[in-house]
Amino acid sequence: MRKNHILYIVVPCYNEEEVLEETINQLKDKIESLIQRKIIHKKSKVMFVNDGSVDHTWDLILDISHKDNHFTGISLTRNRGHQNALLAGLLTAKNYADVIVSMDADLQDDINAMDEMLQKYYDGCDIVYGVRSERKKDTWFKRTTAELFYRFMKFMGVEIISNHADYRLTSKRVLENLADFQETNLFLRGMFPFIGYKSDIVYYKRKKRFAGKSKYPFSKMISFALDGITSFSIKPIRMILHLGVFIFFISILMIIYSIIRKLMGETIDGWTFIVCSIWLVSGMQMLSIGIIGEYIGKVYNETKKRPRYIISRNLEEE
Ligand code: UDP
Ligand code: MG
Repeated sequence: MRKNHILYIVVPCYNEEEVLEETINQLKDKIESLIQRKIIHKKSKVMFVNDGSVDHTWDLILDISHKDNHFTGISLTRNRGHQNALLAGLLTAKNYADVIVSMDADLQDDINAMDEMLQKYYDGCDIVYGVRSERKKDTWFKRTTAELFYRFMKFMGVEIISNHADYRLTSKRVLENLADFQETNLFLRGMFPFIGYKSDIVYYKRKKRFAGKSKYPFSKMISFALDGITSFSIKPIRMILHLGVFIFFISILMIIYSIIRKLMGETIDGWTFIVCSIWLVSGMQMLSIGIIGEYIGKVYNETKKRPRYIISRNLEEE
């Protein structure tokens, strides 16, 4: 593959004035060194996405992009959250770049892993996931909740790469495919494995936030997980159906049991009738909700209008 592609590094920023100067310095060195080594094209840039910051983040971005043409930025009209800011950055950057890397502004992701990512890209990967090999620098709470998060997601039927956040390399065509997904609730981490293509993993050590505070409190993590599950999986609905079948089955056993007790004359009047009704009716209800749920699941999948397949190569066009 021809080397020297144009790389855009997309960095979402929300109130990151404390850390941005250092991020700019480090990314500047990185991008210059990659250009010097002829790994990337000299038109490569860092694209900051200002996610409605209320501090001086945007001023800093404006300032550096005037001073240095390896820096550029876009600004959202208001705070829309990390995932939307990232999406805005990725879909904008793809118009100018051949290959795009996304990373956080706080330097927690080791920027040196980018060399290996690019190597894998030139070796033919369309997606390279940055995966944290250790999280010693995170607090115990953050580590445990994150671990639970990945397990729970997988259990709920969401294809997701463990310990991979949003530090990843994607080729231009992957993002062009991503743009074809019309759903509003786009859960990016689940989307890339879903899109497909040849992919690989690069391991790196997760560092401490360089400065400033985490913008992902526990409550946001919960809603992030719920978003991920409900936008990728109908497993919760299926669980209701399974529960319905299970309760229905138990209800049959309960009916047999209460009739036997009735025949043995061990029950007071009316007991058998009440027990049978409760089990039968609730079993039937649960089952019916599950069946209705299955249809809702279908409607949900249809409304997403996801592309049914993505072609990676078409020899007619080559
Ligand atoms: N971020 C954003 N919008 C938000 C919250 C966060 O663009 O509403 C950015 C933030 O500036 C950072 C990245 O998303 O670059 C990850 O956020 P943070 O480091 O706070 O999350 P954590 O690493 O603690 O999970
Ligand atoms: Mg962080």
